[in-house]
Amino acid sequence: MAGDSSIEWTEKVWNIVKGCTKVSAGCKHCYAEKMHARLNAMNETTGNNGYDKPFSVVVERTDAKGMMTPTTWRAPRRIFVNSMADLLHREVSTAFIMRAFEVMVEHAPQHQYQILTKRAPRWAEISGEVMARWGRWPVNVLPGVSIESTRHLDRLEALASVGDERTVRMVSAEPLLESLAPDGVQALAQRLKAARTGWLIGGGESGADARPCDAAWLAELRDACELAGVLFFLKQLGGKGSTEALKRGGEYAVLDGQRYTAMPPMHRVEVGLFSGLPPAAPKAQG
Ligand code: SF4
Repeated sequence: MAGDSSIEWTEKVWNIVKGCTKVSAGCKHCYAEKMHARLNAMNETTGNNGYDKPFSVVVERTDAKGMMTPTTWRAPRRIFVNSMADLLHREVSTAFIMRAFEVMVEHAPQHQYQILTKRAPRWAEISGEVMARWGRWPVNVLPGVSIESTRHLDRLEALASVGDERTVRMVSAEPLLESLAPDGVQALAQRLKAARTGWLIGGGESGADARPCDAAWLAELRDACELAGVLFFLKQLGGKGSTEALKRGGEYAVLDGQRYTAMPPMHRVEVGLFSGLPPAAPKAQG
């Protein structure tokens, strides 16, 4: 499953891992798990590289065509790497993650890649591998963490260690299950700043069993972002059932009469610098 995305803060999804296991309360109504079951049911007679296994089995993509999908999108796009799994799951090998980075850095550097994880501590290992390989963090890859409650604010600390001074780090506070600012908006702004956060997406949960999200919690995120100089994207207010959720997402995701849809600019990596190879010698004339 790769292609156009209906997620407002991205344009394409590139699914190279299938399957995951739950780590925290934000996983309770996992979208990937529900989609996985649907895709499995749709393909049960034909089989389909990973969806035919239980969701709890983590499968790395093995087909070269799927791995190279971003090279088939010529125009620069914002690409969410894995909407159906967590790329930094412990069962995804470091070698496989580095193959994905090779595609992002060397084969399709025109895109912006967004990677979210709830396994934040693994960012330190991946950052080390990327730095060892290319000497700096690629500006077109946005490392990120998902944080749904104060219990997981420590994922911010892991994020701080990824990349370098040009890295845009992203935070997804969705589904937001409680205020992330129990010590006030100033304190949250300080934490975002300390993590060198560049972009934050906030949103309540939606769907039949959505847990409530107070608009005041989202307003705190917006205010903390403003104080910390972080771009803020309000995805949805959240709501139970499809009708109510629809009324609180997209153009209806409004706080104090305003929409918030900031996104970081796109940067293409300088391939020559990252490949570690000298520029090709000019061909001899005649
Ligand atoms: S980490 Fe993401 S993909 Fe994995 S179970 Fe949780 S919500 Fe689902």
